[in-house]
Amino acid sequence: MKTKRCNFCGSDRYVEKCIEYLYSHRGKYLLVPDTPVEICQECGMVYYDAAVLKEIERHFFAIQNQSEAPDNYIQMPTKALARCSAQ
Ligand SMILES: [Zn+2]
Repeated sequence: MKTKRCNFCGSDRYVEKCIEYLYSHRGKYLLVPDTPVEICQECGMVYYDAAVLKEIERHFFAIQNQSEAPDNYIQMPTKALARCSAQ
């Protein structure tokens, strides 16, 4: 486990989970299943993987630019998927 602390309560107890993440930007939405997150067990604060968020954002804007087909779901990076299916 990583040794980082919650910004809000200072706890170092985290649990890894996969959730449905809804990305929104200027009134448009992209639903992303199996998004790996870390949740603070003390206060419930949810922390997102920066690399995962970046990929979601990239895909979102690719759809906006019509360089990728619009859909509700995106393909997560292989590494993230492996973390999710392992649970
Ligand atoms: Zn916390």
